[in-house]
Amino acid sequence: MTDLSATTGVTDRPSGTAQEPGRGNGNPDPIRRFLDQHNPETPCLVMDLAQVRDRYRQLRTALPDARICYAVKANPTPEIVGELIAEGASFDVASPGEIELCLAKGAAPESISYGNTIKKRRDIARAFEQGVRLFATDSDADLTNIAEVAPGSQVFCRVLVDNTGSKTPFGRKFGCTPQQAANLLVRAAELGLDAYGVSFHIGSQQLDPAAYRHGIDAAAQVFADCAARGVRPRMVNLGGGLPAGYTETAPPLADYVTAVEQALERAFGPDRPELLVEPGRFLVGDAGVLRSEVVLVTDSCDGQRRWVYLDIGRYNGLAETEGEAITYRLRTARDGDPEGPVVLAGPTCDGDDVLYQRTRYDLPRTLRGGDWVDLLSAGAYTASYSSVGFNGFTPLPTYCVDGDQRP
Ligand SMILES: *Cc1c(COP(=O)(O)O)cnc(C)c1O
Repeated sequence: MTDLSATTGVTDRPSGTAQEPGRGNGNPDPIRRFLDQHNPETPCLVMDLAQVRDRYRQLRTALPDARICYAVKANPTPEIVGELIAEGASFDVASPGEIELCLAKGAAPESISYGNTIKKRRDIARAFEQGVRLFATDSDADLTNIAEVAPGSQVFCRVLVDNTGSKTPFGRKFGCTPQQAANLLVRAAELGLDAYGVSFHIGSQQLDPAAYRHGIDAAAQVFADCAARGVRPRMVNLGGGLPAGYTETAPPLADYVTAVEQALERAFGPDRPELLVEPGRFLVGDAGVLRSEVVLVTDSCDGQRRWVYLDIGRYNGLAETEGEAITYRLRTARDGDPEGPVVLAGPTCDGDDVLYQRTRYDLPRTLRGGDWVDLLSAGAYTASYSSVGFNGFTPLPTYCVDGDQRP
């Protein structure tokens, strides 16, 4: 095992100099090559920056007039933030820590959207001092704070929309009704703020492109309500929801874009609003591979399914396996050997640290302790969700490679 420094993310820029645009030029699987060459201690996450760039450019092309704000929480690896700054991205942040991260990597304060509706007054003040001028809100209390400590800023109001079709919905924590949103925006204008627009989130890993219509229709309703009272919001923030590729197949980006365009046309006609979009999972999910090691394989008490215990689990990176919501595709050292059904579990002494028992997974019968197992498309909501060390397991380290650089 090579001496590697991670977590802040060692960038394994292979020594070659040629930088090739696009994807797949000469280096089909740079993550696999990194893993084979360096054999890093597991578990670890390896991100391919070239794939993140490629996704960003796809979205840029698909929604040319939308401002793209990367939802930093999906994967806050500094190298990823840096790459996206270089691509011209903006950022959706939720805390002073994420603002610091973006600014430290060179993001302009004007490129930062404080998208969390739940924030402390002093954190708003701090962001304002740092130059942030765009804030989400969904309550009177938060709006009052913004008006007082971030005077004159742009605000958008989050509405609660139907999350059906989402693998990981937001529940009811965020957002208000369109009517409340209109009231808040009118009040924002009275308080001297710029009543900029409306946001929503249709739920992460949203497999139904038509879901965007709920949010866009709600936004149009808020716009109309505000206009009747002399206030003219002009921006619709489409939020996140675009998918990554897990065991289920997700519709292609084009289907989402078509759904968004149709909904916009229907709801706004020629008065098309400014657009903002906040992709998290879509930009980084497919760009990461999580390498783990089999700790043990045991026969179950009832003799049915083997239990495969990995050194990655619910607390050191796989939080999204809760409820078996996200089902990662797997690759093992023994693919091709005869397979049988397994229960997959993590390494801690916590009874909930079981990854998949209802979802059917089959793994090679020859799999045994010490073998590696890769979880594919694991670049989003893994390292950023790992605990600070529950049960003595360290947070998930992240390495970055760049598939556009020659080996
Ligand atoms: C998490 C989050 C996102 C990103 O959602 P994805 O489904 O990962 O694209 C976007 N906007 C807000 C406000 C969020 O909290």
